Amino acid sequence: MEKVALMDFSYEELCAFVVEELGESKFRADQIGQWLYRGAEIEEMKNLSKDLRAKLSDRCIVGGVKIVKTLKSQHDDTQKFLFELRDGELIEGVLMGYHHGHTLCMSTQVGCRMGCAFCASTLDGLVRNLTAGEMLSQIVAVNKELGGGRHVDNIVLMGSGEPFDNYDQVVSMLRRLNEKNSVGIGLRNVSLSTCGLIPGIDRFKKEGLPVTLCLSLHAPNDQIRNKIMPVSCAYNIKDTIAAFARYIDETGRRGIIEYSLISGVNDSVECAAELSRLLRGLRVHVNVIALNPVKERDLNAPTAARVQAFLKELENRHISATRRRLMGEDIEGACGQLRHKTKQEQNA
Ligand code: SF4
Repeated sequence: MEKVALMDFSYEELCAFVVEELGESKFRADQIGQWLYRGAEIEEMKNLSKDLRAKLSDRCIVGGVKIVKTLKSQHDDTQKFLFELRDGELIEGVLMGYHHGHTLCMSTQVGCRMGCAFCASTLDGLVRNLTAGEMLSQIVAVNKELGGGRHVDNIVLMGSGEPFDNYDQVVSMLRRLNEKNSVGIGLRNVSLSTCGLIPGIDRFKKEGLPVTLCLSLHAPNDQIRNKIMPVSCAYNIKDTIAAFARYIDETGRRGIIEYSLISGVNDSVECAAELSRLLRGLRVHVNVIALNPVKERDLNAPTAARVQAFLKELENRHISATRRRLMGEDIEGACGQLRHKTKQEQNA
């Protein structure tokens, strides 16, 4: 009989499994749930009988990911984690320390098929989707690594993968963040970043989840966006911004525009002016970040003066914008870099 992954069960599903399949009480399901979200192995579940632990070992798998490498930045509070999945695949996450707590940048897929020119996650294409349990396990593993308890306060779905390309599992994970015994993260502490899959944006706004939506825009027009983001060939910038505006209107949440400045590509003052015109009247904030270069790509970060001039132009045109700190630059901070490098070393 194939073993079931307990982390893939919602609270209700776990209760049903424990009562109907294992013949135990709902109280036991609660105990198991508490252990699961502490990242415990079956043999560590000491308040369960030996008999029940044996049944669990026979029928179930606990945990979804384990941390196999941790890199700590010398410059800031950032830590990068390489997670191994049960099938040996690798994903990564970045933990950033802010004054308002710890934010974990999580992956939603192994690899990504979106092909953005500045991103290491897409270098090997999409390998597979993550399950909701594997996503939650990233938070559990980091909490455990930091000493147990609930250390991760906020999550951003901005690691490897396009969340709307794994829609059902991502939404299932979001619904489970704050259920009984889980990781205790409210949806207002969640940001989801999309490269602009319009059907996903329109569907997501109907879910009733108060999540901040971030649009990876990175260009003020179709000509530039087509060069660096293949998704732009399927969904033009005008329609993408319109879908984003519908999400903002319907949810009442302020939207975030992500804009990585790439030297000589999208970083001119004219680009800033065009971006301002595109965003005029929208309740958005622009996060401007200098590119964290990926070795395999021939794209570079602009000078600090150019970044400053870009921001100044947005400010002059009354667009709310800040320069996001480049965190973890010394620890393969760009999305997908650590996984790609480790895979290459494994295959050498
Ligand atoms: S930036 Fe995001 S959507 Fe684009 S390739 Fe990387 S992971 Fe995929």
